Amino acid sequence: MILPIVAFGSTILRKKCENINHNYPDLDLLINNMWETMYNSNGVGLAAPQVNIPIRMFIIDTKPFSEDSDEEVSPIKKIFINPKITSEDGEFWIYKEGCLSIPDIREDIKRKSAIKIEYYDENFIFHTESYDGLSARVIQHEYDHIEGKLFVDYISPLRKRFIKRKLEDISRGKIKVSYKMNFSK
Ligand code: ZN
Repeated sequence: MILPIVAFGSTILRKKCENINHNYPDLDLLINNMWETMYNSNGVGLAAPQVNIPIRMFIIDTKPFSEDSDEEVSPIKKIFINPKITSEDGEFWIYKEGCLSIPDIREDIKRKSAIKIEYYDENFIFHTESYDGLSARVIQHEYDHIEGKLFVDYISPLRKRFIKRKLEDISRGKIKVSYKMNFSK
């Protein structure tokens, strides 16, 4: 089932989300619905709070990047439950980020290039992994969601003034978007 995606302006996007355990009800169904929702909106990542559920879980499928890019990018398709980024290393690099909760806005965002992350998968098996490049970038973006952060938090005050009106419009639902959204105002 395709779920509505929560738009910028909603308080759930500002919540620090909670860990879950393996007894979480209907987890498989939620994960399936999140995949369907993400693919329907052509996203490469989706965090649970974006579908109005304040738990520490996000999904990622970076396949579209590996298809677009000339470089050798190995795609990752994964479910991250109760994740914890334990380190961020490497050079800062700039990438134009977008977000399904903030349609039609893309901004240059600076983040470190490499991360280490601990998480549980959908079978509650524990993993520790390292990522860099675009995979790390998507994980950092989705991880921010479960911490209540959004990519627009990183942009300069000047840029922020520039997009203020657009953000207001998004929160009020005054936008055209090809997928189902949930607006706060
Ligand atoms: Zn996002």
